[in-house]
Amino acid sequence: MEKVYLYKAADYQEQTMQKLMKDVFAPYGGAKAFLKGKKRVLIKPNLVTKKGIESGATTHPKMLRALCTTLLEAGAEISVAESHGGTYTDSSLRSQFAACGVTEALSDLNVKLCTKAESVTVDTPHGLITKNFEIIKPIAEAELIINLCKVKTHALTMYSGAAKNTFGAVPGLRKFELHARFPQINDFVRMLNDLHVALPICLNIADGIVGMEGNGPTAGITRNFGFVAVSTDAFMCDSVCATLLGLNDVPQLLDAKARALCPESVGYECTNLSEAEFEGFKIRDLVLPDSHPKGKISLITRMQNMCGGRVIKFFKPRPKIDRKKCVRCGKCAEYCPVKTIEMKGGKPKIHRDKCILCFCCQELCPPKAVYIKTNRILKI
Ligand code: SF4
Ligand code: SF4
Repeated sequence: MEKVYLYKAADYQEQTMQKLMKDVFAPYGGAKAFLKGKKRVLIKPNLVTKKGIESGATTHPKMLRALCTTLLEAGAEISVAESHGGTYTDSSLRSQFAACGVTEALSDLNVKLCTKAESVTVDTPHGLITKNFEIIKPIAEAELIINLCKVKTHALTMYSGAAKNTFGAVPGLRKFELHARFPQINDFVRMLNDLHVALPICLNIADGIVGMEGNGPTAGITRNFGFVAVSTDAFMCDSVCATLLGLNDVPQLLDAKARALCPESVGYECTNLSEAEFEGFKIRDLVLPDSHPKGKISLITRMQNMCGGRVIKFFKPRPKIDRKKCVRCGKCAEYCPVKTIEMKGGKPKIHRDKCILCFCCQELCPPKAVYIKTNRILKI
């Protein structure tokens, strides 16, 4: 069983980040020993949205810089690649890196930002539900990938950490096609795990110094969890983080457990901490996404799973638009995977009958005008 290393950190100051990166590689004998003679390293951050450090939604540029500096000193050749939500073009990549503070933070380092929007199809013959994926070319060609993700709650998948971050390997709008192809959460997370296990990820660094709670991954509230989790195994890393956050039934982890990709339960024994220290890392009052009012799979989702997907739609949480916050940009209609949002007289209208409850509209709405309305029965 791979270990998860937990470190406390309070801020993203240069000194804190330098010490953190020393800690990150120390259990593996330092960064140079960790690379084992391999040189080409690709860093996959989380730049899901055009939001900077204040959002808690995207990788902090100072952490990315500290990781790059450490790896450069160890002799690595580094690329940074991401496919954010929305369109995947050369210009959108450039503006995404700039908006998230990455371009400036790495401007004086010998690091390649992958701003060419190219993708290839890779076969995933061992996938349970998906036998091939279109993924972005730099990730397809990577020798080693370091997964630099954020610790966040997620309206659809409940938790977003290491294994969910690899969905950013799928180029732009292809993500929405996968949402449309796998509208049931169990199928969707199975697809995510098919993708994750196909990628050569050698290290996962989950940044919870400032993460997100509530309606993540982009419309939630920033929260200082104050820790960073590190592991060569993404599912172990996620299991420990979810345990610390008090999230029990994370669908992606349930699928990983069913495939024997991670143990049934994890505790301090899997980490570098004593039981008392592990307890001290726990977050006891996490604000949950509105779609998961009790931090566990809702009664309705359980019913849906039992009935093979048939459930009365009326009972499920659903997206609604706050007219006062809406700036009528049309992004929700553009990116809705099943095109069930219509811009009527310049205003978005959600046609509920076709909605697959993926919450992409909430994730991609710039002014957070989309909220989730929960039926009272869901709180059972
Ligand atoms: S994305 Fe948000 S702000 Fe833009 S039209 Fe949709 S609800 Fe309104
Ligand atoms: S309306 Fe929103 S939640 Fe429903 S399918 Fe479209 S993007 Fe997904």
